[in-house]
Amino acid sequence: MNALIDRHGRSFPYLRLSLTEACNYRCSYCLPDGYLADGRPRFLELDEIRRLVRAFAATGMHKLRLTGGEPSLRKDLVSIIATIATTPGVSRIALTTNGCLLPRHVGLWREAGLTALNVSLDSLDPARFAAITGHDRFAEVSEGVEMALKLGFDAVKLNAVLLRAVNDDEWPAWRAYLRERDITVRFIELMRTGDNADYFARHHYRAEALERQLLDEDWSLVPRAPDAGPAREYAHPGYRGRIGIIAPYSRDFCTGCNRLRVTARGDLRLCLFGDFGIPLRPLLQSDADQDTLIARIRTQLGLKQAGHGLHLGHTGITPHLASIGG
Ligand code: SAM
Repeated sequence: MNALIDRHGRSFPYLRLSLTEACNYRCSYCLPDGYLADGRPRFLELDEIRRLVRAFAATGMHKLRLTGGEPSLRKDLVSIIATIATTPGVSRIALTTNGCLLPRHVGLWREAGLTALNVSLDSLDPARFAAITGHDRFAEVSEGVEMALKLGFDAVKLNAVLLRAVNDDEWPAWRAYLRERDITVRFIELMRTGDNADYFARHHYRAEALERQLLDEDWSLVPRAPDAGPAREYAHPGYRGRIGIIAPYSRDFCTGCNRLRVTARGDLRLCLFGDFGIPLRPLLQSDADQDTLIARIRTQLGLKQAGHGLHLGHTGITPHLASIGG
């Protein structure tokens, strides 16, 4: 098997697969008016997902993340996880979720083969959480996270988007939260997308001040594992939890890129902020197309650029992250 390597020398063991563009939240920076169905073709079905994952696994992909939209809205999520878990070569299956269905489903996902979980939690204050997401579901999400911590996942992580004048004063609350919990919270800098330019101008907050504070408080930067993503991770001997910083505007963000994306309708996207998608769906209709599918993935990788143009305000064809699988 030849691993996928692009012309910049990067390899791609990690696939992020969006299962749906639909979301039940109305996050102020993503889908403030909620998800509006647009009548386009349906999202990938189980057989299509099975063929897609098998093809990527044949190119050396071994870690897969299910995302969206809100992937837990898929009624067949347990079957999707179980199908992927039995695909030869795939050893890690992660899910990114808004967490409101965790209490009902997380045990079933774990039994089906899910190995890691990321839950979005932009605030530890229930009223703020409701204001950011449009949903008063803080209690369900935090209960679900506590349940997940007891299920033996390889990792449970929280994602919090840093928002100026909205949640940029919560470090003391997070510090208390992390003292006894074996969990990583990843602070993500707000990214500009096609639809959120005004919001971005008002609320984008650089993580640098927070990182300086971490160093002042004796948190130390953990050496980056060879297959790690773009997060800079910090640990402290007095805390069970860890902190990750995801700063897409920092200089080296794309040099370690190890991921490809496939949208909920089967387009390969080479970059979160790229200018085009490559339709794979026509090759997902029959097992007989497997070799052609693998060949298409390999050839199209040749078009992957060295980096995104976010610093220049170039957001590509991504109106919001729910459309591609953030
Ligand atoms: N619905 C799931 C969830 O809430 O985690 C998965 C999809 S959501 C698009 C994935 C992650 O992207 C969430 O943590 C969300 O907060 C983050 N996100 C969405 N828009 C963003 C933006 N403009 N900048 C940074 N993060 C963003």
